[in-house]
Amino acid sequence: MRKYVIMGVQGSGKGTQAGMLAADLDLVHIAVGDIFRWNVQHHTKLGAQVRRIMADGLLVGDDLAEGIVRDRLAQHDWNYGFIIDGFPRNERQAEFFLESYDIDGVIHLDLPDSEVRRRVLARRLCSGCGMDYNLLASSPHVPGQCDVCGAPLVRREDDTEEALAVRLREYHEKTDPVLAIFARKEYVVTVDARPSRDEIQADIRQRLRLPPCQPAVGAGAR
Ligand SMILES: [Zn+2]
Repeated sequence: MRKYVIMGVQGSGKGTQAGMLAADLDLVHIAVGDIFRWNVQHHTKLGAQVRRIMADGLLVGDDLAEGIVRDRLAQHDWNYGFIIDGFPRNERQAEFFLESYDIDGVIHLDLPDSEVRRRVLARRLCSGCGMDYNLLASSPHVPGQCDVCGAPLVRREDDTEEALAVRLREYHEKTDPVLAIFARKEYVVTVDARPSRDEIQADIRQRLRLPPCQPAVGAGAR
């Protein structure tokens, strides 16, 4: 049984790394943000609650996130363990979580703010079909134009320098104390989130003393 928390700022590749670990080790990947999105899309009671909060321009509260995580973990379908992303979100939840679940490790994907800024400000969105682009990694064939539908690419409304500065400040204000609590118990492995996804994954596994990643299906000799 392996129980991990993964933490990292937006653009740090947290979801990708958690997904890779979960797929290979049979862990349940609990992404709190995805659970909120799923509920909104499927018009559940919780989804309606989340939608109301967001319509008022507010962030989904810590209590709601805590309830989601508690319900999800109470399903006990995580025979081999879990990796959780988007929680705990404050010091109280971190203490509670440590006492309740006997965590094996906290993976902290470390990305300097300057690199977050570079990555996030390179994001583009097709104004026609909604396809995502990143001018650093997946730029379109014709600059400024969608490969699929040809519509102009635009920046997301909240991907401005100013909005990002606010998000980064909020992230550090919330996350740094949580990391400090975990670090006191010596659970945290801090991994450089700048290399390629495979290099980051290898680094995480080495630091957690996990076996190296299995080659992808179809790769290598049979
Ligand atoms: Zn398009």
